[in-house]
Formats: sequence, C-alpha cells, structure tokens
Amino acid sequence: GLIEAALLAAEHAQPIVSPTVWPAERPSAYDVMIVGAGFAGAVMAERLASQSGKRVLVIDRRPHIAGNAFDRLDDAGLLIHQYGPHIFHTNSKDVFDYLSQFTAWRPYEHRVLAQVDGQLVPIPINRTTINRLYGLDLRTEQEAAAFLAARAEPVADIRTSADVVVSAVGQELYEKFFRGYTRKQWGMDPSELDKSVTARVPTRTNDDDRYFSDTFQAMPAEGYTRMFERMLDHPNIDILLGVDYREARGAYPHDRLVFSGPIDEYFDYRYGRLPYRSLRFEHRTLAQEWHQPVAVVNYPDEAVPHTRVTEYKHLTGQESEHTSITYEFPAAEGDPYYPIPRAENQALFKRYEALALAQTDVTFVGRLATYRYYNMDQVVGQALATWRKTFGADAKPRSE
Ligand code: FAD
Ligand code: UDP
Repeated sequence: GLIEAALLAAEHAQPIVSPTVWPAERPSAYDVMIVGAGFAGAVMAERLASQSGKRVLVIDRRPHIAGNAFDRLDDAGLLIHQYGPHIFHTNSKDVFDYLSQFTAWRPYEHRVLAQVDGQLVPIPINRTTINRLYGLDLRTEQEAAAFLAARAEPVADIRTSADVVVSAVGQELYEKFFRGYTRKQWGMDPSELDKSVTARVPTRTNDDDRYFSDTFQAMPAEGYTRMFERMLDHPNIDILLGVDYREARGAYPHDRLVFSGPIDEYFDYRYGRLPYRSLRFEHRTLAQEWHQPVAVVNYPDEAVPHTRVTEYKHLTGQESEHTSITYEFPAAEGDPYYPIPRAENQALFKRYEALALAQTDVTFVGRLATYRYYNMDQVVGQALATWRKTFGADAKPRSE
C-alpha cells in the first residue's frame, strides 16, 4: 500500500522532517507572513498562494511543519504521532474534498476501550459496555435505554461536564468512566468544566462501538506530515522553521500577518494568561508484535497516572515485529495543547478577541488564536472560511 511505499522512500531518501528551506532569491518583502505551520497556517498559506497569488512566508518555532498533527517515522520505522493520537473524522464533504487534493486516505474507524473494573470495555458507553460491566444480556435498544433511564439523575439545567454525564448515565457510570479521567486530563473536577467537554463523548444504547459517527473517517495514507508537505509545496510559499515570531517579525517585511499561535501571547499577556492544558508524551517501542487490541485504551482510574495509551499500527496498518506506543500524562506546564472551556476563560478570551478585531492587518485563526477546543476538520473549515472572508471573493476591500 501507500504507507509501505512512503516508508521505503523515507528509509532510502528524504527525511520526513523538512529542513529549513530558505531560497537564495527570496522576495524583499512578503504579502503575508503566517505564524504557525499547523492546519490553520497551512490551509491559509495554500489558499493564499494558489488562489490569491500572494507571496507567503510560513514560520514555525518548532523544527517541523504540521503543528500538533506532526507524525514521523521512529527508530523502528513505525509512523508515530509526536503529539498524541490524531484521528481524522468529519461530516463536512467540503473539508474532506479539500484535504483529498493533498493525500490519499486509508479507511479507518476509530475504536477505543476503557479499562474499568479490571476489564477492557467499549467507550463511548454502549449496550456492550453495560452488558459486560453488569453481567447482563440486554438485547435491544429499548432494554439498554431502560437500564440507563433507571440510573440517570435528571439535571434541570445542564451546565457542566458532570451534569452532561450524570443526567445521561447516572453517578456510578459517571464515576467509572468520566470523573477520574477528566480530573487527570484537566486538573479539575468535571463540575468545573463547561458541558461541551464531556459532551464530545456520546452515550449509546445500540452496540455501535466506534468512537466517532461522522460520515468521513480515514487516515492520511502516508501520514499527516506528508499531506502538509504537499499543501505547502508551492512556488509562492517559503517556509522558515525553528524561528519564533518575535525574531521573524522585524527581519522579514510583510504587508499582512496571519497568526495561529496563542492569542494571549500575541498581545504580550496584557490581560493576563489564558489557561491552556498541556501533556507529556512518552513514546516507546516494544519488541513484540502487538500491545493492545485497539489503537487507543483509556484509563479513567485516577490512581493510574496516564490518561490513555495509543498503539499506532492499528491506525497505519503497518506490519512489523515491533510495535510503538505513546503514553499521555496530563500536565499544567508545557506546550499549550488544549484551551480550557470554562465561562471565565471565555470571558478573558473575549477581551483579547476585542483587541484582535481592532488589528486590521492581522488575521487570527486556529485552535490557539481563537481559543476553541477544535478538532482538525473544524480548524480546516475555520481557515477556509477565514480565507474566503478576508482574502477571497467575499473579502471587503481594505480601508487604508
Ligand atoms: P497547531 O497545530 O497547534 O499549530 C500552531 C503552530 O503555531 C504550532 O506548530 C506552533 O509551534 C506555532 N506557533 C505558535 N506560536 C508561535 C510563535 N510565536 N512563533 C512561531 N510559531 C508559533 N483533532 C482531531 O480532529 N482528531 C484527533 O484525534 C485529535 N487528537 C488530538 C490529540 C491531542 C493530544 C491534541 C493536543 C490535539 C488533538 N486534536 C485532534 C486537535 C488538533 O491537534 C487541532 O485541531 C489542530 O492541530 C489545530 O491546528 P492549529 O493550526 O490551530 O494549531
Ligand atoms: N472523557 C472521559 N473519559 C473517557 C473519554 C473522555 O472522561 O474515557 C472526557 C474527558 O474529560 C476528555 C473529554 O471527555 O477530556 C473529551 O474526550 P476526547 O476523547 O474527545 O478528548 P481528546 O481526544 O480531545 O483529548
């Protein structure tokens, strides 16, 4: 398959981490500087270069493109995700078609098991989960719904991440699957987090054990980094890696800026820091063929320090005598991975957003710059819309 071809090519020739490329004959000024080579920055760069005819400089302080979706071959030749498991899923045909210009796909439907009461059971909670945990034989959706209804504790006004789950499955299943995991992942109780966080995970009464139910579910056949290389491979695009915006901003003249880093950092934390949650990733290669039955196993038990373990061969279809896995340990300090959805944080973001709206020559886009807990497809959709509105056919002329 494609992944094998990619691996062969990578083994014999090109490194998957792009070196910093700086053409000898570079323009004296760029139309647009783009900060961040993740989904937000790469989509903006691709549209601006190929559709708007702009000369674009993309910079990233990391030594690679693809942002948090960056994947690479490890020492065992296995494709791993440097910043944790990235599973592509979307209901948007537009987003899927757009990305399909830059990659072929490997069909993949994500399945996750949770270790609860010493067993591995499906999460999202479904009929199989209930039957396994309680030694039951519920056979219909109605029976499973009745089981849950008998335990669910109605909440008049569902506001928090605890309310969402307790009102759907009751206190016991909430504690088994959600309380510990959430307390570890976010460093706070689900009752302190917006409902949108645990609402990402549905409850099912059928036996569908897929993590997502989106129309399009697939992995880029040669990995995310390869897809980004194709998006950014345009004569109008220069790329500068390992360079922070602070260093680049004065050195490379540009008419406009697209910023996809943390919005509070852009404004020098004028109103204080926006809270982000971080993770520490521990990557390991084991001298055995398989480690676990599915790509991701969740560990809701608060006594276990990690939240989940990912085994990549399930995602890639690679074959090997070895297997590579990643443990995720939540952390307060480190790279900003997750905006933390809470009313007070949203209020602080709104103050920064007001500053952003006043900057006529700067466009803020992406998960960090718009402080939204967005999946990859949502960031692609946001970037496409932002390009259309700011630079495309829908753009208003700039007032000088
Ligand atoms: P990023 O990918 O964070 O890119 C921003 C880039 O800007 C970074 O590379 C950063 O180095 C650079 N940058 C920031 N500030 C500066 C500066 N001052 N100077 C220079 N460069 C700068 N989504 C899914 O759809 N499915 C998943 O399964 C999934 N799993 C995830 C798992 C984890 C652990 C995490 C953290 C996220 C996951 N996501 C998933 C979400 C996904 O990673 C994001 O939606 C997406 O990567 C956001 O793209 P972005 O361009 O907005 O931000
Ligand atoms: N969650 C949980 N137990 C699980 C899975 C998820 O408590 O087994 C909660 C947890 O708060 C998590 C949120 O639901 O942060 C969203 O889960 P998702 O898998 O979407 O997280 P992500 O992949 O974005 O880290």
